[in-house]
Amino acid sequence: MDSVVLNSKREFSLVRRHPWIFSGAIQRVLGGPQPGETVQVLSDDGDIMGMGAYSPSSQIRIRMWHFGDLPVTTDFIVNRIGQAIGSRAYYFADGGTNAFRLVNAEADGFPGLVVDKYADWLVCQFSAAGAEYWKQTVVDALNRFLPDCKGIYERSDVDSRAHEGLEPKVGVLSGEEPPDRIEIIEYGCRYFVDVKNGHKTGFYLDQRENRQLIKRYSNGAEVLNAFSYTGGFGIAAMSAGAASVTHVDLSEPALVLARENTVLNECCATKSEFVNGNVFSVLRQFRAEERKFDFIVLDPPKFADSKGSLMRAARGYKDINLLGMQLLRPGGMIATFSCSGLMTPDLFHKVVSDAAVDAGKDFQVVARLSQSQDHPEGLSFPEGLYLKGLLLRVLG
Ligand code: SAH
Repeated sequence: MDSVVLNSKREFSLVRRHPWIFSGAIQRVLGGPQPGETVQVLSDDGDIMGMGAYSPSSQIRIRMWHFGDLPVTTDFIVNRIGQAIGSRAYYFADGGTNAFRLVNAEADGFPGLVVDKYADWLVCQFSAAGAEYWKQTVVDALNRFLPDCKGIYERSDVDSRAHEGLEPKVGVLSGEEPPDRIEIIEYGCRYFVDVKNGHKTGFYLDQRENRQLIKRYSNGAEVLNAFSYTGGFGIAAMSAGAASVTHVDLSEPALVLARENTVLNECCATKSEFVNGNVFSVLRQFRAEERKFDFIVLDPPKFADSKGSLMRAARGYKDINLLGMQLLRPGGMIATFSCSGLMTPDLFHKVVSDAAVDAGKDFQVVARLSQSQDHPEGLSFPEGLYLKGLLLRVLG
């Protein structure tokens, strides 16, 4: 087997079981490993430190499969998939929810692979050379563990594939092509998901528990669902008896689905409004009109994708949080989020509290929020925690 010898000064993170080896940590490569092939990782002293997938064009040159000396075989890959699926037994048993993540990359010991289940369909994203190399084995394993699934679709159209020397790929991997709308159910709310054209694999499954949580506070509330995507939080609030929901998003196709999802769930007298626009300007306009809301959701896209853009991103977060706080009625609540991995929970907390200072209001933190439990974070892989949020209530 091909192997890679590390610089003695750069072995530390691997000893700490961090799964990434950067190019600068490599002293030499023995043999000629091809993209995605397994290499044995050796310390400067010649000890075996583990096995990883080699990716010659990526700065993350190796992603670890494990920290032992066993080879990585088809059985190993199948077992990793089986273990990930088995650990979601709770979600399979929950009849009120049929869309959840089955494999969450590094946290499930499968770097570069995401598999999401939407009712009878599976959607996969292969974002690293190692995962790409084992694609057919993954598809076979998914069919074996979930024989009733109607089809497996690939949404490997993520920018990060370019760093791995991989082209974007989208299409059917197995079975039938998914319909344009897959209907899913999440804690009793129904949503249409467009897995072929939607964001990520189609739906923000990582926000499931937070959508459920806000139902507690939605009865009778006038709700502003900023960065609504296909309705998510607003539909949840409506199902819990919100008086009105105002969805705001830049994406017209997302709002088309938000309208369809509203009809799908229409149950009570909630008034729904759909605003196609930029949240930054729409919220300013609402402020000028002196509009007020009882519950505001701020769930923007990733503002920071590099360390260099972090300060600009922080200003963006502060700006929308300040606007949201100014639109809140006394006693009202805000659920505010950041999905930028570079924005740490501490920094996010500081940015939001800076906004409160500028708004001249006092808030209590009702809950600290995170990604749902089908999106676990590896204990030695803090990069896996990206979604953070605060549920705040303003004091009168
Ligand atoms: N809360 C949603 C997910 C939000 S994803 C859910 O639970 O499903 C972020 C959304 O913000 C995307 O739909 C994107 O189209 C939208 N968006 C990005 N920038 C925006 C902006 N400046 N103004 C309005 N919407 C924006």
